[in-house]
Amino acid sequence: RTKSDGRGSYRFFEAGMDNHIQARLMLETDLRKALAADEFELHFQPIVSLESTDEVRCYEALLRWKHPVRGMIPPGDFIPIAEEIGVIVPLGEWVIHEACRQAVAWNGTARVAVNLSPIQFKRGDVVGAVHQALTHSGLAPQRLELEITESVLMDDGGRTQEILTSLHKVGVRIAMDDFGTGYSSLSYLRKFSFDKIKIDRSFVKDIHIQQNRDIINAIVELGRSLGMTVTAEGIETAEQLELLRGAGCHEGQGYLFSRPRPSYEFEGLLFAPDSMRRVARPLVPLHV
Ligand code: C2E
Ligand code: MG
Ligand code: MG
Ligand code: MG
Repeated sequence: RTKSDGRGSYRFFEAGMDNHIQARLMLETDLRKALAADEFELHFQPIVSLESTDEVRCYEALLRWKHPVRGMIPPGDFIPIAEEIGVIVPLGEWVIHEACRQAVAWNGTARVAVNLSPIQFKRGDVVGAVHQALTHSGLAPQRLELEITESVLMDDGGRTQEILTSLHKVGVRIAMDDFGTGYSSLSYLRKFSFDKIKIDRSFVKDIHIQQNRDIINAIVELGRSLGMTVTAEGIETAEQLELLRGAGCHEGQGYLFSRPRPSYEFEGLLFAPDSMRRVARPLVPLHV
């Protein structure tokens, strides 16, 4: 059986070829066209202060793919494919530009956080893309935060470290995402002086287990002594919030405050004066 996507490129499906593989090939074909077709959207999730007030310090940009047939596809389902076929490079650049543009439109002091893939460091020009996005949008570098996981710093001969250092020098903030889940998170803290560490959701989820509380306390101590902001991901309950606040965690993020939402849903809050930009709990009705 032969199938065409109508632009002269053909995919050959063997009779009896696994449905899973066919589905994957179709997704890959669609993904190559999705950026030009304007099918991506950024959602934003507030990161709030756990210290004195509950002001919004930052909004994390989270990518969504509005597939014309399949509907909303979460990043976990398409980012690995985008990385494999290289689409993550132009897509990741679009995310940086779009996030900066949006942060300027908000017109406040909250930062915007952008996730970067290791492939962008290997095959893209992250420094160029960030400089372009900052210049084009007019966003102050201090309001941009880049989130990377430790896999970004793995065996690249120090190149990534150089890239991060040069961005750091112009004022961009660097955060280590999903802290505690990798094989050697601690050793990566020596490679670069991060501004922030984000405690992985898995520790927060099982915070009722003493061992996880001990780990969280240790991460907070570590972060504080290294002068880094410590943010907890995945806060869903008031109990988790109180334990994290008690542990001395600086910031929190999670469904308790708000799910990731299209930017216009925050506009009423975002256009308010800074002093009024607080998150009511919950910020928006939760549809669970
Ligand atoms: P991440 O950077 O660790 O983002 C946090 C993820 O946790 C988001 O999932 C968010 O929706 C989810 N989350 C937040 N609060 C809660 C909570 O209280 N409970 C639960 N169960 N989940 C919560 P999402 O949006 O599906 O993104 C998944 C991952 O995809 C992200 O993890 C990030 O690694 C990646 N990703 C998202 N956008 C981008 C992007 O623009 N570029 C790159 N390279 N990766 C991205
Ligand atoms: Mg992140
Ligand atoms: Mg994370
Ligand atoms: Mg994560």
